[in-house]
Amino acid sequence: MELADADDAPALIRYAREAGRALTVQPNGHNPSHAVDGTILVRTNRLNEVRVDPGARSARVGAGVNWGQVQSAASPHGLTGVAGSSPVVGVTGYTLGGGLSWFARRFGWASDSATAFDVVDADGRARRVTASSEPDLFWALRGGGGDYALVTALEFTLYPVSALYGGKMLWPIDRAAEVMAAFREITATAPDELTVWFSLLRMDGAPPMVGIDTTYLGDAITAQTLLGAFDGIDGRMADSRRPMTPAELGTIVGEPTTPSPIRSHVELLNELTDGDVESLLTTSMEPLSAIQIRHLGGAIARQSDSSPGAVTAPYYISFISGQPTPEAAAANENQIHLYLSALNRSRGRRTPLTLLSPTQTATDAFDPGTMHRLRSVKSSVDPTGVFRSNFPVLDPAAGR
Ligand SMILES: Cc1cc2nc3c(=O)[nH]c(=O)nc-3n(C[C@H](O)[C@H](O)[C@H](O)COP(=O)(O)OP(=O)(O)OC[C@H]3O[C@@H](n4cnc5c(N)ncnc54)[C@H](O)[C@@H]3O)c2cc1C
Repeated sequence: MELADADDAPALIRYAREAGRALTVQPNGHNPSHAVDGTILVRTNRLNEVRVDPGARSARVGAGVNWGQVQSAASPHGLTGVAGSSPVVGVTGYTLGGGLSWFARRFGWASDSATAFDVVDADGRARRVTASSEPDLFWALRGGGGDYALVTALEFTLYPVSALYGGKMLWPIDRAAEVMAAFREITATAPDELTVWFSLLRMDGAPPMVGIDTTYLGDAITAQTLLGAFDGIDGRMADSRRPMTPAELGTIVGEPTTPSPIRSHVELLNELTDGDVESLLTTSMEPLSAIQIRHLGGAIARQSDSSPGAVTAPYYISFISGQPTPEAAAANENQIHLYLSALNRSRGRRTPLTLLSPTQTATDAFDPGTMHRLRSVKSSVDPTGVFRSNFPVLDPAAGR
C-alpha cells in the first residue's frame, strides 16, 4: 500500500487495527527480515518533501526521502547531514536505526541529530514528537527502530562544512599487510574530522585488491598530511581522493544503487589485535566479495542521547557477499563463521540496528537494559502491536 500523503496514514492504521493485521513501513526494503511476513507493507516514497533551512542549519524531510536528496539540497548552502555511505538509503529508516555516518566520529549517531518526528500513532492520531513533548517515545525513535509509530516526516540538524575531502585508494592484494599497518597507525591518532575505512575486495572481473575509503572534514593539504602513511606504499592502482561537496559523498564507496541480493554480517570490534589481522590477511576470502573495517571512536564513543548509547568499540567489521543461489548462501555462511571464530576473542558481539542481518534479532543490537526500556515504550505506545518493524523489540524469537 503506497501512501499518497501523510493524511492517508490515520485511515490505514485504523483499517489495520480493525482487521487485526500489523503494518510494516518500508520505503526501500533495504533491510528486510522474516519478522514482517504477513504484515501490510506500507510504502512512503511519495512523502518526498525536502526543506533545508540554512539559517537554522536544519532540515525537514518526508518519510520517503533518501540521503542523496538531502545532501543535494544541503550542499549548496555549505551544509551536510550525517549521511552514511549510500545515497539511496532512506533518511527515516537509517535515523530510526541510529545511523552510522561517515561523520559519526565528529557528530555521533545520526539519531543524535534528530530534533522532531511527525508520527501517526497506533490510534491513528497525528502527533509531533520531540524531547520535551514525549521524552520516552522520542528516545525510542532515536535509534530504537521502526516499531513505535508510522513516521511521516522528521527534522534534524545540519552541520556547516567549510571544506570536505574524500575518495578511495586501491592497491593489489599483496599490499594488504602494508595498507593494514598504515590504517592501524592512522586510526590510532586520527582527529574526529578524519574517517578511514579498510577493505579487502574480490570483485567479479577484477584482480583481488585492498582498498581505503576516506573522508576529512577540512582542507586537502591537511587531509593528505594525515593520510601520508599510505603514500609510501608502492603499486597504488587508483586514487580518487579530491576536494568534494557533501552532495558527492555517496560516490566514494560506489555501492550498488539498484537492488542486488547481498548477504552481510556486521559486528563491533572491541579491539583489532595482531592475531585478528593475521587471521584476516591469511584466510582465503572466497566466496565473500568484501571484508570491510570501519573506524569508529571520536564523538560516538564519548556521549549519546540516542537509544543505542555511546559506542566505545573502535571499529566494526562487515563481511559482504553476493547471494544469487541457496548453494552460494551456504558457502557464504560457512566462510563468515570461519572468520568470526578466528576473531572470537576480540569481537564486540553487538551489531548496530541498521546493519543487522535477517538471522539476527534486536537483542543483537542493544544491551539488556536498553532492550527492557524499548520494550516498555513499545508496550505503552502500541499495546496491540499495530506496527511491526524489521527487527521488532517484542519479537518472540528475541526472547522477552
Ligand atoms: C548500500 C547500502 C549502504 C548502507 N550504508 C549504511 C551506513 O553507512 N550506515 C548505516 O548505519 N547503515 C547503512 N546501511 C543500512 C541502512 O541504514 C538500513 O538498511 C536502513 O534500515 C535503510 O533504511 P531504508 O528506509 O532505506 O530501508 P527500509 O528497509 O525500507 O526500512 C528499514 C526499516 O526502517 C523502518 N522504517 C522506515 N521508514 C519508516 C517509517 N516511515 N515509519 C516507521 N518505520 C520506518 C522500518 O522498521 C523498516 O523495516 C546501508 C544499506 C545499504 C543498502
